[in-house]
Amino acid sequence: MSSPDTMQDKPARPPAPAAGPRKIPAPRVLPESLPYWTAADEGRLLVKQCKACGEVHHYPRDICPHCLSADTVWLQAAGTGTVYSFSTMGKGEAAYTLAFVTLAEGVTLMTNLVDCDPATLAIGQPVRVVFKPSEGGHAVPMFTLA
Ligand SMILES: [Zn+2]
Repeated sequence: MSSPDTMQDKPARPPAPAAGPRKIPAPRVLPESLPYWTAADEGRLLVKQCKACGEVHHYPRDICPHCLSADTVWLQAAGTGTVYSFSTMGKGEAAYTLAFVTLAEGVTLMTNLVDCDPATLAIGQPVRVVFKPSEGGHAVPMFTLA
């Protein structure tokens, strides 16, 4: 009763090529965040602080997300923090660990945990910033165990 069409096997899918070491895409840089990326190239981590309300924020913006003041300044972060959460994606040498890290300055940023065995990671662990080159763009702040 079945027609040849419904009996057809799906074509065999060729095996996926082995993924090489992870490449970091160049960040998209807006004018208001250019100083952040320029500092990253120099090995410095910046956050924004509002002079009106005193709050620190990240990702850097011209307007304070807490009180909407335009009176914000760059602050050099200590580059230390703790793991808020993390998740390891991918396999083998292409695996990477996406994480949220809370800086000593109090802001939490989305980043990657690098140069460490994901099996040894835990929430609350102290970490420090490292800067990794991207594909044809600025260095990207990431974190490793302190
Ligand atoms: Zn503010």
